[in-house]
This record gives sequence, structure tokens and C-alpha cells, in this order.
Amino acid sequence: MPELPEVETVVRGLRAVLPGRQILSIRLGKTDFIDEPILLAELLPGHRVADVSRCGKFISIELTPREPEPSADARQYLVIHLGMTGRITTGNPSEPVPAHTHVFLALDDGNEFRYTDTRRFGQMRLASQSWIDDLRARWGEDALEINAANFARKIGSRAARIKALLLGQHAVSGIGNIYADESLWRAKIHPARLGNRLSAREAETLRKALQDILKKAIVMRGSSISDFLDADGEPGEYQRRHRAYGREGERCYRCRTLIRRIIVAGRSSYFCPKCQPAPRRRK
Ligand SMILES: [Zn+2]
Repeated sequence: MPELPEVETVVRGLRAVLPGRQILSIRLGKTDFIDEPILLAELLPGHRVADVSRCGKFISIELTPREPEPSADARQYLVIHLGMTGRITTGNPSEPVPAHTHVFLALDDGNEFRYTDTRRFGQMRLASQSWIDDLRARWGEDALEINAANFARKIGSRAARIKALLLGQHAVSGIGNIYADESLWRAKIHPARLGNRLSAREAETLRKALQDILKKAIVMRGSSISDFLDADGEPGEYQRRHRAYGREGERCYRCRTLIRRIIVAGRSSYFCPKCQPAPRRRK
């Protein structure tokens, strides 16, 4: 499943090619992952792309109003969530079309924007500014941007397991299973520890580990779990750097103890039982 670094990688790829482009026409395959596909097909052509940004794990493509349409409140966004297997490419329309490609946008520079999604757990919709604002209000601050004081406050105010807090998107947004496990390993914090029992130093070590790992993963274009590809169709590289995630039974890079897997917050959690001591049980 694409996580923050993968989505950010896709956003950066799209930001290099989409702004200024006009959408000339749209062609749809299966539409069960699209909110109001008929409306989307009707409204999208004619818009120009103003900007591309990331909102948590959503990709938000800001559109300028259609040209003869003067309404001041006409700011719209094409919002995309990649789900499990969503993939976006832009390129020459003569290139072979991968199976399960369901959205084709013809652009005014002759290129084609394609959305491919094998399992169709992704989402696509046209959204207003208020929809975007609601989305931002529901979630915690972005994991890449949150500062030390806010992170410590959000984590420290909850008697929930730290792994659940990281995945829950309310304390901090954008973190999925891979980068939660990697940052907890780096910070030497057991995934089942309670957020409000972490020391200030542990919380800050964790925040720094998270941001450092996310930034490195973005530089390496994310992790190629399943069939994630960036906007240029290149696989990510970060999975070669995983230190905990997916390494059950392999040796810890720090202390050579065997990495273990347990279920925390309903998800597989990989950790080193020596470097990341379990929370002490209270009698
Ligand atoms: Zn270890």
C-alpha cells in the first residue's frame, strides 16, 4: 500500500509535468472507485491544472476554473487516493496501455494522464475547497511537518499504544505500517508502549526518526511494496533499507537478536525484542 513517501513521490513527479496543462478530454473504464463518474467526465475537460499537492495520503490536483466560467467560488480539485494498487503515469498516448487502466486524460501538450488500479481500492473525486478543508481538519498534522511540541502533546495525551497512535491519523497523519515499524525500531520504542508513557526524550527521538526515515524514503522514491511505481513508472528503492518491517526471524542490524512479529493495533508489527523492550506490566 502506498504510504506518505510513495504518495509524495508521485506528487512531486506530477508537479513537474501537470501545472499549466489543460485537460482536453477524458475516457473512463471501470468507474466503481470514482465518486460521481458522470459528473467527473462532464466537468473535468476544459480545466487547467493549477498545482499538485499532497493532503495526507490524498493527491490533490488543483484546477483553475474553466475559461468562460467566471464564478469566484469555482475552485475545484481532482482528488485521488491510490488505495492498495493505484498508479499514475503521464506520457505519450501511443505507449502500451497496462491492464486495469481506468482513467485516461488527454492533455494539451499531447501527453496522456493514466490511472491504473488492479484492485480498485483507490478513490477519485472532484472536490471543493471546503471538502479539502474538512479533510485537513479531520486529520492530525502532516508527519513530515509536525514540530516537537505538537508531536509530544498529541502522543502524550493518549493512553493508546504508540503503534495505534501513529497509524490512527488523528495525532499525526500520513504514516502507515512500514514507516511506523521502521521509526519505532530506529527510536528503540516497543510498538505496544502507551503514548502517554513515553518520555519527552523518547517522543522527540521518535519524531526525528519518523521525519528522517520519511525524507530518506522520498529521496529513494518510496518502497516498492506490491506494485507501487512513481509517476515516471520507476519502482521505489527504499525497501532495501528496511530494518524491521518484513524481517521476522532475521537478525537486528544493531544487536543481532532475531526480529519478531506481533499484532498491535490489528496490524503486523516487526520489532527487535532486545532493542525495543516490552512495556512493563503493572501489577
Ligand atoms: Zn536489536
